Amino acid sequence: MNNRVFTYKCTGYDDTRIGPYIQQIIEDAFPNEAFNNKTVFVKPNLLTRRVPEQAVTTHPVLVKEVCSSFAKKGAKVIIGDSPGGPNSLSWLKSVYNSTGMYWAAKESGAELNYDLTPHNENVRIKNSHKELQVLKAVVDSDYLINLPKCKTHGLTVFTGGPKNLYGCIPGLIKAKYHLELADLDNFCELIITLNELLKPNLTIMDAIIGMEGEGPSSGTPKYLGYIIGSRNPYLVDAMAVQMIGLNPSDIPVLKLAHELGIFSLTDDSIINVGHTKKEVVPFRVPVATRYADFSDRFAKRIPKKLLGTIYKWLKPALVFSEEKCTSCRICIESCPAAALKLHNKRPKVNVKECIYCYCCQELCPKSAVSVKKPALARWLFKH
Ligand code: SF4
Ligand code: SF4
Repeated sequence: MNNRVFTYKCTGYDDTRIGPYIQQIIEDAFPNEAFNNKTVFVKPNLLTRRVPEQAVTTHPVLVKEVCSSFAKKGAKVIIGDSPGGPNSLSWLKSVYNSTGMYWAAKESGAELNYDLTPHNENVRIKNSHKELQVLKAVVDSDYLINLPKCKTHGLTVFTGGPKNLYGCIPGLIKAKYHLELADLDNFCELIITLNELLKPNLTIMDAIIGMEGEGPSSGTPKYLGYIIGSRNPYLVDAMAVQMIGLNPSDIPVLKLAHELGIFSLTDDSIINVGHTKKEVVPFRVPVATRYADFSDRFAKRIPKKLLGTIYKWLKPALVFSEEKCTSCRICIESCPAAALKLHNKRPKVNVKECIYCYCCQELCPKSAVSVKKPALARWLFKH
């Protein structure tokens, strides 16, 4: 079952085929399964307070269709996420409101989750024990349905199925883990550990309109026109990245999952269901991901001392737009490294403290944060 991937063409969110396609994916994932008295936790990507047209969050029509399908099967359905930004009930409510989740819940008969109580689990990351906090509401549910959005990402190149579960970590603890596991490999291992722990029962990606460029929140909406589903979240991502012109082995989470033996990038037993003839719509990747590319290609060949100096010349610059910034302080309060402070009403970064996690860019409600390449990087990467 975990080797089946569904890819269905959908031309827009008003496409009447969305509902039947969603039903088909669910029927295939859970043939003859009884959902009476079962709790189904539906986890869309509700990164921050944005309207659906901005393509930052999973579209409410898709969420509604998924919830309706499980509600009709007799399940108690809960929609929930722990968005980035302030850890407060009023912020969560305003995120649910802007992203259309009140509407999705009302139309489908689902409930919205307001319980951000953490549940502690002992896990192993980098061969040492770590206590991992996840939402108790997710752990207490019988099923976890993962609804990611197809987007590029400044740190992990792509954010889809596995990365969407990062929102199951409550509130500001997300920022703490970003700091503790700042290295990209460690961060990817955390994502994989989270997926091993929560084991999503089904992943359905909103790839109808995704995001290219400075994702996951400051990029440009881009039409792809597909819904992609599988019981295997890595398989959903592997399919999606190929459709946006990337190689699955260039996506750090997929590459590490392959190395750890959790997912195979060379599995020839994959069964494609649905519209198997797919066009490729190339997505631009974020400026910041070029640096990961650089380290992969050159780091091993250059003496460590020299590498340090080169990295200094290559460090990306975070630029806070004078025109767009409203001094709301969300980036400052969300910075895991406490590297930002307000200076002349605008955030200023302490580059010695910055861990280049790009949370400030990810969570800025005004898209006021951009990443600029220094001259050496522009010359090296020539785009
Ligand atoms: S950069 Fe964005 S998040 Fe930071 S203070 Fe300005 S508007 Fe707020
Ligand atoms: S300044 Fe931005 S990129 Fe740097 S650590 Fe803080 S949130 Fe991350």
